[in-house]
Amino acid sequence: MGTIKKNSKEQEIGLVVRMKRILIVMDSCRYDSAVGLDTPFGEPDPAHTDTNHTITAFIDFFCVNKLPRPIDDYINPTFLREFNYIENLKTPVYFISDNPHLHPVNTHVKGMLNLFNEYKVTNKYFHGCKEIIDMANELDLGDDYYLVLWFGETHQPYHYGDHVNLKWKSFANRVVKYNRGADNITDKEMDEMHNKQREACKFILNNVWKFVEEHSDAEVIITADHGESLGENHRYGHGCDVHPAQFTVPIWHRKVNK
Ligand SMILES: [Zn+2]
Repeated sequence: MGTIKKNSKEQEIGLVVRMKRILIVMDSCRYDSAVGLDTPFGEPDPAHTDTNHTITAFIDFFCVNKLPRPIDDYINPTFLREFNYIENLKTPVYFISDNPHLHPVNTHVKGMLNLFNEYKVTNKYFHGCKEIIDMANELDLGDDYYLVLWFGETHQPYHYGDHVNLKWKSFANRVVKYNRGADNITDKEMDEMHNKQREACKFILNNVWKFVEEHSDAEVIITADHGESLGENHRYGHGCDVHPAQFTVPIWHRKVNK
């Protein structure tokens, strides 16, 4: 493991990410929720997922190392490249989220995810991240392993930081009937949910990315596990339709410049 020179802020928090690759997943973040945001690192590329639900995204990410594919990545000369456009991706072994909904899901793929049982679900980014990252730093994993940071703020109900989506409960109570055809959700309400996801995305990009940037010199991929319908085909949510809104996600591939 190489050493990274600490700045004063790192000394204060005591955190250096030694892993050379970081994968940040913003759960449910559809592509257009990440476009046009005021963030430090520009527009994402659009990418396609194979799945519209977290469970099967886990299999894509962690069993077969298949990340969302940039839509413009046309050149697939080999099956391997088609299967996984990021070469040498190893199975990630760390999992951080502050989104409790992910954990009941784990039971469906328990054999695969036993790896994660040792690690804590965190409520606070920095201190929770620090525990996991400190553990990662202790292990000699080599440079091609990914540290996975999986964030749930972009997932319904779109709570982020200190922000609570007060409209969520009333909205959620109507979703089942809406998805069966009832006109019980207005366009304005749907737009409000879209804006909540955009704000949550912006929150993650501005806070977590900056944190990672300050504390590592890693190659970073930021993407989502699947998208979200926000009224397309008269559907709300994900795992409930085959519309591209549920399969189109943002992706950024960045190297931290030191
Ligand atoms: Zn998901």
